[in-house]
Amino acid sequence: FAPWENPQAVPYIEFRNVTKRFGDFTAVDNLSLKIYEREFFALLGGSGCGKTTMMRMLAGFETPTEGEIFLDGQNLAGVPPHRRPVNMMFQSYALFPHMTVEGNIAFGLKQDRMPKGEIDARVQEMLKLVKLEAFAKRKPHQLSGGQRQRVALARSLAKRPKVLLLDEPLGALDRKLREETQFELTDLQADLGMTFLIVTHDQEEAMTVADRIAVMDAGRIVQVATPAEIYETPNSRFVADFIGDINLIEATVAERGPGYTRLLAVAGGFPIETDQETDAAVGATVWYAMRPEKVRIAHGTPDPGCANAVGATVWDIAYLGDVSIYHARVGDAVTLRSTVANVTRLVERPISWDDQVVLSWERGAGVILTS
Ligand code: ATP
Repeated sequence: FAPWENPQAVPYIEFRNVTKRFGDFTAVDNLSLKIYEREFFALLGGSGCGKTTMMRMLAGFETPTEGEIFLDGQNLAGVPPHRRPVNMMFQSYALFPHMTVEGNIAFGLKQDRMPKGEIDARVQEMLKLVKLEAFAKRKPHQLSGGQRQRVALARSLAKRPKVLLLDEPLGALDRKLREETQFELTDLQADLGMTFLIVTHDQEEAMTVADRIAVMDAGRIVQVATPAEIYETPNSRFVADFIGDINLIEATVAERGPGYTRLLAVAGGFPIETDQETDAAVGATVWYAMRPEKVRIAHGTPDPGCANAVGATVWDIAYLGDVSIYHARVGDAVTLRSTVANVTRLVERPISWDDQVVLSWERGAGVILTS
C-alpha cells in the first residue's frame, strides 16, 4: 500500500492553502499538497509556474503570504532556514573553486563546529556514497560535470538532512550523463531512505525519478499522481499535452450509459467507442486523448480486438530508430499519430507515404477530458 493511497497516513511535508504573492503577482495560488516520508516527489511545470517558489518556502528562503507549511508535524512558520531539517541543492552547484572535494563536503560541518574526527569520518562516508573516494584531493575544475554534480550532492547530504530539495539538479549535464545520474539518484534515495523533492521542467526526468509527480500551471497544481497515472489518465488537456505525445480529438457526446460513452469526432465525423463513463451531457463538447502507441495502423483490415476503426492516408513518417511515428489524415480535417515499435528490422517499409491505411484502437485506449 502506498502511503498516498491510505487516508490515515500522516504526511511528512504538508502545504496547507499556501499562497505566495510578489506585489500584485500571485506566484503560488492557494495550494495544498501532501508528501510522505521516503517519497521521491517531483514538482513539474513550465517556466514561471511557481515550482522553485514552493521549494524556497519549504527551505525557509521565502515566507508564504498565506497558509502554512508543516514538516514532520512541526509548523515551519518562523523557523529560520538553518534550523529546518532540509537542504537544497541548486542547479549551479556553487562549489567553492579553491577548495578540494573533501573541503567542499566538509564545509557545512565545520560551520556547525562538528569535531574534526567526526567530520573526517562523515566526509569519507559521503565520498564512498557518491563513489568519489579517489577524487578527494582534487579541485572542482579538475572534475567532469557529472563528478561536480556528485560532489554537490555529497555536500548537500553531509549534514544528513531529513529532506533533500533538488532544484533542476541535472540541468547542466548532457543527455546521456543526465540519464545515468537519474538512476544513481533514485538508487541513492532508496538506500538512504530519505525524502527527496525535485523541481524540474523535464517530464522524462520527473517520470524516471519520482514516485509521484505534481503537475503545476500558473501557481496551481493541476494533477498529482504516479508517473503511470499521469501518463495513462491525465485529468485535463493541459496535463495530457504537457506529458509526452498525445492525440487530442475534439468530439461531442453522442450517447452515454453505464460503462460506455459513444463520441463523435467534430472533425472527420467518425465515432469513438469508449469503456469510460462521463459526466458530460449528450451533445456536450469534450476531448478524447489517446497516446499514439495505442493507435494501430495497418493496410486494409482493422485489428480484430479493436472496437474503433477509421480510414486514413499516411502523409508523414518519422523514423526514430526504436519507433516510427506515422501521421495519418482522416479526410482533410484531422491528423492522428500512430507510434509503432520497430521490433523487426525495417528492410522495406511496410507502410509508406500516401498509403491508404486503417487506424484502429480499443475501447480503453484513451480518456475523455472535459477540461
Ligand atoms: P523556472 O523553471 O523558470 O525557474 P519556476 O516554476 O521555478 O520557473 P518560480 O521561480 O517559482 O518559477 O517563479 C514563479 C513566478 O514568480 C515567476 O513569474 C517569477 O518571475 C515570480 N517571482 C519569483 N520570485 C520573485 C521575486 N522575488 N519577486 C518577484 N517575482 C518573483
